[in-house]
Amino acid sequence: MPAIDDLFLRLSRSPFRQKFHLGHREYRYCLDKGEEEIVAHAADFIRERLAPAEPVNDGKQTPMRGHPVFIAQHATATCCRGCLSKWHQIPAHQPLTAAQQAWVVQAILHWLRLEMQRPQPPAPRRKKDPTKDKQLRLL
Ligand SMILES: [Zn+2]
Repeated sequence: MPAIDDLFLRLSRSPFRQKFHLGHREYRYCLDKGEEEIVAHAADFIRERLAPAEPVNDGKQTPMRGHPVFIAQHATATCCRGCLSKWHQIPAHQPLTAAQQAWVVQAILHWLRLEMQRPQPPAPRRKKDPTKDKQLRLL
């Protein structure tokens, strides 16, 4: 079985990893930026936040929202060196090699492609704007 399929099979058995999904804004962000740019962001994040031997704030360096790659990292257990060690057999306390970084980016991209095959999540409901109601009445 290809390594990526083995990883996603294991992830599919984790209720914690399975609860992560793109929200409306992150989904739209992927559509707007396109795959090439998202992959470039992923490579940057991994290089800066995960690749050093001792990453800053390791274990807490990946926010839960705000960028589709962050969500993909939680979903694929590439969020911190502890998860990389446990799920990907990539040992902590040493810099990630170029090949290891490429693997992480591949896992993130694979998850994002699957996620973008799902229907677009609905936009969050906005609070009613009372000034707009007034304008409507005047019309
Ligand atoms: Zn983690």
